[in-house]
Amino acid sequence: MTAEPPVTPPPRATTHATSLVLVNTGDGKGKSTAAFGTVMRAIARGWKVGVIQFLKSGEWSVGEEKVARDLGVDWWALGDGFTWDSEDMSQSRAIAYEAWSKAREVIASGEYQLVVLDEITYPINWGWIPVDEVLKTIRNRPEKVSIIITGRDAPEQIVELADTVTEMRKVKHAFDAGIAAKRGIDY
Ligand code: ATP
Ligand code: MG
Repeated sequence: MTAEPPVTPPPRATTHATSLVLVNTGDGKGKSTAAFGTVMRAIARGWKVGVIQFLKSGEWSVGEEKVARDLGVDWWALGDGFTWDSEDMSQSRAIAYEAWSKAREVIASGEYQLVVLDEITYPINWGWIPVDEVLKTIRNRPEKVSIIITGRDAPEQIVELADTVTEMRKVKHAFDAGIAAKRGIDY
């Protein structure tokens, strides 16, 4: 009796896409780090890469941001150029929309072959960034601009539009055992 191959061989590829839209979603770890892994591939091919981070995570993002900048990646973190002088939601909303305006400009410029919209699903799901604007921007993007979207609960319409969607499923997470985020692993 012959064993089943572990994976069904894919159909032979017959077309080459000029760009792709990827979504890394789900409740397990690895959404952002997978995106940054792809950033390394893009850099290796001489692509210009832009990263827009939609959640302010303080020092947590410092690790990958520094390395990426050293590699020539243009990186915008939510809150850049803004001051957080109140906990006011309308201000957070305005800042998120400002970040989206930047993202839209970066995508539409056509100067970047890869644009990462890290954690954009949250402000979309909170109603701070209209999903229709995101869909329109993705659909109308210059042909060589690939996009990676990360964050939990990716909106269904974005999942439909994307070429590749991966759901990170949490099997275990150290955090649940009371282990704090670890420098070098988590940020
Ligand atoms: P990473 O940036 O490590 O790839 P992620 O992008 O998949 O994680 P986020 O929700 O953005 O996940 O998580 C941000 C931080 O929270 C990271 O430090 C990550 O390790 C941690 N984290 C991710 N998933 C979980 C989880 N299921 N429970 C607790 N913490 C998590
Ligand atoms: Mg993340």
